[in-house]
Amino acid sequence: MRKSGSTRETRQRKVVYEVVRHSKDHPTADMIFDQVRDKLPTVSLGTVYRNLSVLKDQGLVIELRGSDRRAHFEADLTPHAHFTCTHCGAISDIEGCPTPDWERLPCLAGYTVEEHRLEFRGICPQCNS
Ligand SMILES: [Zn+2]
Ligand SMILES: [Zn+2]
Repeated sequence: MRKSGSTRETRQRKVVYEVVRHSKDHPTADMIFDQVRDKLPTVSLGTVYRNLSVLKDQGLVIELRGSDRRAHFEADLTPHAHFTCTHCGAISDIEGCPTPDWERLPCLAGYTVEEHRLEFRGICPQCNS
């Protein structure tokens, strides 16, 4: 088994998490890497990937698949809808979108829902104007 968590590793993971937590734009690993590097100049992209995957396993961040087919990350775990622009690839949070209480719907009786996603795809306001 791999030795779990040196102090350096823990610190790196914390910085990666903080970057994701303070991002509102669902950054990719590359974008996260750029920001982490400002704080930890010696960090590698591989380290950022590894930390993102640990944070994901720990349930602290979620991964979204963008229209660019790349993984985007966010630390906002409250259920919310997304709009993915197929033109520029931006993923936006859609606030105030009514979300039915899926778990109580008769069609899901007998299923245990662990997560569900509501995602719209199309052209965002910026690309539409
Ligand atoms: Zn767009
Ligand atoms: Zn979001």
